[in-house]
Amino acid sequence: MDAHRVIIVGGGVLGTMHAVEACRRGWEVVHLEADAGPRRASVRNFGLVWVSGRAAGAELDLAVRARELWEQLAIHSPAVGFRPDGSITIARHDNELALMAEAAAQPDAATRGFELLDANGVRAHNPAVRGELLGGLRCTRDAIVEPGLVLGALRITLEATGRYTWLPRRQVVDVETTPDGTAVAVDQLGNRHEGTAVVLCIGDRLSGLGGRIGATLAAAPLRKCRLQMMQTAPASERLTTALADADSMRYYPAFALPGLDALPEPAATTSQWGMQLLLVQRAGGGLTIGDTHSYDEPFDFAVEEHLYEDLRARAEALLGWSLPPVVRRWAGVYTGVTDERIYYRTTIDPGIVVVTGPAGRGMTLSPAIAEETWEELTR
Ligand SMILES: Cc1cc2nc3c(=O)[nH]c(=O)nc-3n(C[C@H](O)[C@H](O)[C@H](O)COP(=O)(O)OP(=O)(O)OC[C@H]3O[C@@H](n4cnc5c(N)ncnc54)[C@H](O)[C@@H]3O)c2cc1C
Repeated sequence: MDAHRVIIVGGGVLGTMHAVEACRRGWEVVHLEADAGPRRASVRNFGLVWVSGRAAGAELDLAVRARELWEQLAIHSPAVGFRPDGSITIARHDNELALMAEAAAQPDAATRGFELLDANGVRAHNPAVRGELLGGLRCTRDAIVEPGLVLGALRITLEATGRYTWLPRRQVVDVETTPDGTAVAVDQLGNRHEGTAVVLCIGDRLSGLGGRIGATLAAAPLRKCRLQMMQTAPASERLTTALADADSMRYYPAFALPGLDALPEPAATTSQWGMQLLLVQRAGGGLTIGDTHSYDEPFDFAVEEHLYEDLRARAEALLGWSLPPVVRRWAGVYTGVTDERIYYRTTIDPGIVVVTGPAGRGMTLSPAIAEETWEELTR
């Protein structure tokens, strides 16, 4: 396809990265968002560009490419807040450290920037960590962006191209390809947005569209996950890396190694709520802390206070100091694929493509996913 006009549906990070890639290729972009501004997973996440935990092979390659793209994007849109701070996953038990040593001995350890640290090494790399610990696994490839700023920052850069139109409060209710090959998205007001292609990045709103697209999504191998999160007031300490506790190794495929079975038995709450500790400092000093994982729909409309108490206790044990007061609590939902794919992309009709389902890695992978969509569209 030559450069033309694309209609992008969904103002989250996937839709916005598709807009960035389209404009980079000289396409004109009309970008539709159902809400007054994007308020779903893309603004509710940790902002972790998380390379460390990715599965070996294609998923790791995609994450490495995505990190490269984030770094480049930050040159033109510095307000995304890209910081190449890396992360440390903390071990407080011998078997946790043993699993980290196993991961650090894998052939792709250098690609992830893994370095096994003893307790002094952890404190040297992140002096704010003063809890009791045995050591940790540093990942120099992990990075941080500011989820509250990314989308707005990228839209400002897009608007400067003169080829980008942002239309909030436009919910797409139907799509079609006309007999002459024009791709059309119809919004709730009956407006028809026409282009060479329509790319739908609708996140977890899987049941809002009718016709063939609605039927395709209803049968797609996708499931939703709900997470609880919180943020503290600014901390007086500066955290030089993102942090994770060893429970995170239960969820990230990079640690699906023989030593995983030898991890200490998880606490009942950890198993029931799929808990791990991830902790990242925002540019303004506050600490974003999570998380939990629930898969049973319909999801609770309220957040569970006892899970916040658990997360606070974990964070304080790891840091060795009291957290500042919690000032914000929220839940977020993402959509993930249930088969072996890394994310879900399907062509409904010629020129009409749906992209969703990157699960808890969507912030990380979004620029590289957009690049792959465009390679497919222009093949
Ligand atoms: C709590 C939490 C923490 C996470 N942490 C991380 C992390 O640290 N690192 C990481 O890599 N990933 C993380 N993720 C995952 C990541 O946030 C998601 O994978 C990613 O944001 C998905 O982006 P999206 O654009 O597909 O979806 P969304 O952010 O849900 O955006 C979809 C947008 O499309 C709009 N929309 C939907 N339907 C229509 C329609 N019919 N018409 C018009 N607009 C429509 C919606 O209103 C919404 O704004 C986390 C997710 C959560 C929930």
